[in-house]
Amino acid sequence: MTTLAAIAKPGGGFDLPIDLAGAVDAAEREAAMAPLVFADDTDDPGPDHADAHLNNPDSDLWQDRAHALDAAMAVTVGEPAWTIDVLGDAAKAAAMIAWAEYREIGAMHTHLTRTGKPEPSPRGVRLLDIDTQCAARIAMSQGLTQRQGEHWLQDAIAMRDRLPRVGRQLRDGHLSPRQFRLIITRTELIDDHDWAPAIDTAIADILARHTPGSWSTRRLADMVDRIIFRHDPDAVRRRHDKANHDRCTWILPGTDGMSSLGATMTAENAAIAYTAILDLAAHTCPHDTRTSDARNSDALYALITGTPFDCDCHREDCTATIPDPTTLATWIRDHQNTAITNGRILVHVIANHTTLAGHDDEPAYLNGHGIISAAHLRNITHRNDTTIRPLNPTAGTVSLPTHLPSDPYRPSAALDTFIRIRDGYCTTPGCNQPAWTCDIDHTTEFDHHHPHLGGQTTPDNLTTKCRLHHRLKTFGTGWLDDHYRTRTGHLTHETVTPEDIHLPGPAETNTTLFPTLDTITWHQPPPPTKPSNPKHHRPHDRTKTKHARRRAEREANRKQRLANEQAGGDPPF
Ligand SMILES: [Zn+2]
Ligand SMILES: [Zn+2]
Repeated sequence: MTTLAAIAKPGGGFDLPIDLAGAVDAAEREAAMAPLVFADDTDDPGPDHADAHLNNPDSDLWQDRAHALDAAMAVTVGEPAWTIDVLGDAAKAAAMIAWAEYREIGAMHTHLTRTGKPEPSPRGVRLLDIDTQCAARIAMSQGLTQRQGEHWLQDAIAMRDRLPRVGRQLRDGHLSPRQFRLIITRTELIDDHDWAPAIDTAIADILARHTPGSWSTRRLADMVDRIIFRHDPDAVRRRHDKANHDRCTWILPGTDGMSSLGATMTAENAAIAYTAILDLAAHTCPHDTRTSDARNSDALYALITGTPFDCDCHREDCTATIPDPTTLATWIRDHQNTAITNGRILVHVIANHTTLAGHDDEPAYLNGHGIISAAHLRNITHRNDTTIRPLNPTAGTVSLPTHLPSDPYRPSAALDTFIRIRDGYCTTPGCNQPAWTCDIDHTTEFDHHHPHLGGQTTPDNLTTKCRLHHRLKTFGTGWLDDHYRTRTGHLTHETVTPEDIHLPGPAETNTTLFPTLDTITWHQPPPPTKPSNPKHHRPHDRTKTKHARRRAEREANRKQRLANEQAGGDPPF
């Protein structure tokens, strides 16, 4: 039995069929154009719900999902490999449940739209329209507020009308419900545009193709923005202009005698303001008793009110020299200048030089924020505190050095910047830490005594790792990461847990947004005549053994991967 329904758009009409059964093809779409008959507005007995699962691919998929969890429902094991397995199966089941809920709510909405009538309501009272009544059923039956019910309904309608193909990625477990809601939010403004179905298709295709790549929330948002930008270059600018026009501040009473103070502003202003907070807060001595979050909160208050900010250690030997918040504007400016000369610029924007010069309107990328429009980019570059530093002064014609001639361990400034631009965030699966707050890590460990034997300081052996994930790799026992090119030349990451579970790295990096990054060429300066500063770098024997073991493990994994690729045809991407 194939179950298909013709879905009424909110504006009426039956022009957008979606499948309730799985694979959609043209024939089924044709069939779907026939009006759906509901049990309660005719004498037709309607679909037999008891038999609805028979020969239904969605039902079969669900049987598989549920079956995968059978053992987990019976016992707990606690062995990490088992736990990770259970979490993976449960995530797929949860995604399918969320999809089924959305689908059902969407179908109820269709049903009520067809059969129900808006209730007349007294003047001045919100019209009890179909959406309100539909959300009321969801809210009351699930113990939610009307508003929560309305949000759920809106998401279900979004899946039905705007993102049916992305919805199927949710069903198939390529997305979590949380990730799906993120896509709904990011695509809100495409409704009623001709290209909305194309965006749905493009996002769904990428999600299907990139399995098993990992999507952190930031990388997923960047991908969706990039797709929208390709179809409607002005949409990102319009969205920014509207959001910027609506910027605001607020105070929110909280619990336990606390309140929240918030503001929206342009991403670059927020980044600069936040850096100022962190900078002021960082001036206490090491004996300050507050958590860093609490210190930041106090620094923010001092900055806004122009009141003193002090170290709270009360020690005679306190070493803190704290700038006066009232003169902090000057101090920040000086500090910024120092930061720039030290190579730590406060806000990093990445753009093609053609966009900067106004020859095109390609999107730009703001570190820690994501995609911005060319117009927004030019607003930033016109600030008098902006410094523009070309990565490659004469694009495409010069080969850049990978490291300093004196030290093959240290990446050159150009390579350091390149790695941050390319990776965008920490490359560990799920991590959202922006690249400029990350460390640059040699994937295969550098050998300070025999530089030619260890991992090299090259684009293919360096990645961004946040401090936590860098430490986990360096000091955690059994954690291994790798960074390699597949047979098709795709640079990909992998993290291996101590239980030898291979977790895919980011599905995309910024090379998708800036393909010209792949055309930059690099050369290694000639090796130094003597080892680089061996006193500082002399590793313990234990470290040397660990590094050697890791290199061997990576080598074995790579051989295995190559064998798998050759046996199984093309790699997944
Ligand atoms: Zn102190
Ligand atoms: Zn990280």
